[in-house]
Amino acid sequence: MKEKKEKNIEDLPGVGGTTAERLREAGYSDLMAIAVASPAELAEIEGISEGTAVKIISGARREADVGGFETGDMVMERRKKVGKLTSGSSVFNELIGGGFETQSITELYGEFGSGKTQIAHQLAVSVQLPEEKGGLNGEAIIIDTENTFRPERIVQMAKALDMDPDETLKKIRVARAYNSHHQTLLVEKASEVVKENPVKLLIVDSLTAHFRAEYIGRGALANRQQKLNKHMHDLLRFGYLNNAVVAVTNQVQANPALMFGDPTRPIGGHIVGHTATFRLYLRKSKAGKRIARLIDSPYLPEGEAVILLCEDGVRDA
Ligand code: ADP
Ligand code: MG
Repeated sequence: MKEKKEKNIEDLPGVGGTTAERLREAGYSDLMAIAVASPAELAEIEGISEGTAVKIISGARREADVGGFETGDMVMERRKKVGKLTSGSSVFNELIGGGFETQSITELYGEFGSGKTQIAHQLAVSVQLPEEKGGLNGEAIIIDTENTFRPERIVQMAKALDMDPDETLKKIRVARAYNSHHQTLLVEKASEVVKENPVKLLIVDSLTAHFRAEYIGRGALANRQQKLNKHMHDLLRFGYLNNAVVAVTNQVQANPALMFGDPTRPIGGHIVGHTATFRLYLRKSKAGKRIARLIDSPYLPEGEAVILLCEDGVRDA
């Protein structure tokens, strides 16, 4: 390997002490974070024009060795680091190629009661398992927008896996997001927490509820989609930089244009759909059973898995 002196943000072109400080305050605390930012994002910071942002980013890309073409073997090397997190159900894991993948976003969508929050709880417990048991030996952060996190459920699920319930709870950090703006800021907070703690799972439950409630009417739609787009990219970056699983939940809204077939579709439309690598549609079935359907995966066939929601958590039906 080529020896390279560690560089700081201050060494980038166009970055003095004040700008460096502002970058850090905005969550861009290392070269990699800047290298993968967009000029428009950086230009939101006071004192940085779009032109300066372009210069700063390309400087960071050179230093952090990102941004150019990657050869296929390099992509393969990065893909080798992708971890898989167990859902608790082997058929569910199989459906998604072995488990919830790190370095990408998985979207769980479905109507009320379809099991999105239960799966989120299960992942927060499973992620703490060692790798040989399907975990990532890591900790979890949950951004809870609907106040549905229940520590009691974590205790039940931990006991079912012979884990210490108190220890398990300590490795899950929950933040209640009060509005969509707060929700997006919490991703920056998460990026700070991950520096000191081995966070391998970031959950946003629900991704879209605040956005839907706050941006009402046709005129607000473009603005909402733009904010949601940035939020999704921040989440993806978190997963990528930390080799972590990112799972988000989404509701469905009635689609009156569809008279046949499934009368529902997820909120956020294309924006959420294009950024999420895996989309899973959940629907209710009989007696605690749920059907998970994989939609639009880049390399896995569409298919379904029947899972069970029970006291122990998520299991095979
Ligand atoms: P969503 O987040 O999609 O609205 P949830 O994940 O909250 O839905 O799912 C709620 C469902 O989870 C309940 O209807 C029930 O079937 C199941 N559930 C919740 N807690 C338990 C439990 N302790 N034991 C068994 N099933 C449970
Ligand atoms: Mg829920």
